[in-house]
Amino acid sequence: MKIIVDSEKCEGHNRCYALAPDLIEVDDYGYASAIGDGTVPPEHAEAAQLAVDNCPEYAITIES
Ligand code: SF4
Repeated sequence: MKIIVDSEKCEGHNRCYALAPDLIEVDDYGYASAIGDGTVPPEHAEAAQLAVDNCPEYAITIES
């Protein structure tokens, strides 16, 4: 399972980072990207889904 952030859609609201700080990092402007290659450890699967569900720009997807 991998989390993917579409940088074209991200508007830097920072919500995903607040919900899944182990999976997502943000730059100085609040724009998000997946940490490392985006692999989601099983214990963070719920946080990944929360990030997907709460991104107002639909910029986050999960790939299985
Ligand atoms: S919640 Fe969505 S729009 Fe906001 S920083 Fe995260 S990916 Fe970007």
